[in-house]
Formats: sequence, C-alpha cells, structure tokens
Amino acid sequence: MSEKPWTPAWIGLGANLGSPERQVATAIITLAQVPGVKMLRRSRYWRSKAIGPQPQPDYCNAACAIETQLEPEALLNALLDLEDAAGRTRTQRWGPRVLDLDLLHMQGVLRATTRLTLPHPQISRRAFVLVPLAEVAPRLDIPGVGVVGERAADCDRSDLRLWLASAPPPAPATTADSIATPTSIPAPADGPTDGES
Ligand code: AMP
Repeated sequence: MSEKPWTPAWIGLGANLGSPERQVATAIITLAQVPGVKMLRRSRYWRSKAIGPQPQPDYCNAACAIETQLEPEALLNALLDLEDAAGRTRTQRWGPRVLDLDLLHMQGVLRATTRLTLPHPQISRRAFVLVPLAEVAPRLDIPGVGVVGERAADCDRSDLRLWLASAPPPAPATTADSIATPTSIPAPADGPTDGES
C-alpha cells in the first residue's frame, strides 16, 4: 500500500497568558510529535499588542512550516487538542489565551465550512501573522492574500517587535530551538524547497 502524500501546511501560534514563549515553544515541540506531521521550520518569536478587550498582556507569536499526511479537518483537531492540553478555555471573544493555534494555509486546499476556513481569513490583516509567516515561507503565494513576503513588507508593524525573554529560555524552548529557524537555514537562491506555491 502506498504511503499517504505529505502536504505542506503553515501554522500560526500565539499566547498571552502564563509563560507565552514557553507555551509556544512547547506547542511546536508537541506538534512535531503528532503522527503524520513533520516539522520543517519555525519563525523567531515576536511580541505583539493584543487586539480585543483591554487591558491584556502582549502576545508571543510565531509561525511554523510543516508537512502533513493528515486531512485538513484532522489537522485542525490536532491543533485544538494541543490548545486544550495547554489549558485553553473559551470564554471571551478576542480574550486572552494560553495558546492559540491557527491553520493558516494548506497547499492546494480551499475550505469554507462552519468548522474550517482555508486559507485562514485573517492572514492579510495581521502583521503578527504575516511577519512570522514570511520568515518561514517568504515566497508562499496564498490565494486571496498574495506573496507572503511582499505582504509582510507592506504591513503595519507598529505593534510588533521581536520577543526578548527577560529570563533564560526554559528547557522546552531549548529543544524547540533545534528546529530550523530562518537564521539557521538560509532561503535557497533558486526557488522554494519547502512546498511554497
Ligand atoms: P479561535 O481560537 O478564536 O481562533 O477560533 C477557533 C475556531 O475557529 C475553531 O474551533 C475552528 O473550528 C475555527 N476555525 C475555522 N477556520 C480555522 C482555521 N483555518 N484555523 C483554526 N481554526 C479555524
């Protein structure tokens, strides 16, 4: 029996309760261990001002590129399980959260159901999504969004800066650092190799 195909997909991560950087790092490690998921690269961690009800702590945001054998809905379920495992409760729209995982795009997949919209409808409005995503997939051309690197270059970054931890990184973050980052894997000169299309 032939192996299921591996489809490139891109995930946005955010957290603004507890230890945001730790939760994002742990989510990346845990996602990498989900059967049918290969972690390819992750962005740096970024700090963004929360949207929605105020006051709220700043968010730690990141993005990662994966390949997956999972169907889109199964991947969404895996992301929701990771949010639940992190202790997420859903009380207030746009409220603070211990972990938020968004399936931003899956190559070749369009969805508009009550459970899943692909590509994610908020990508082009949000610097905290576009800028990390551009670090892992600058040439990715998302239907309805455009080329991620170009959109990221044009977007308003006034509420976004690099996340600088005040304490030494926790143990899980050290492990997450072993996953390729934009600085450790330079973009190839002659075209994408990570499924960007
Ligand atoms: P939120 O956590 O507030 O971003 O919303 C989560 C809900 O959005 C989930 O229960 C999903 O059913 C729904 N949803 C629709 N499209 C997506 C997507 N592309 N990625 C993540 N959640 C999605």
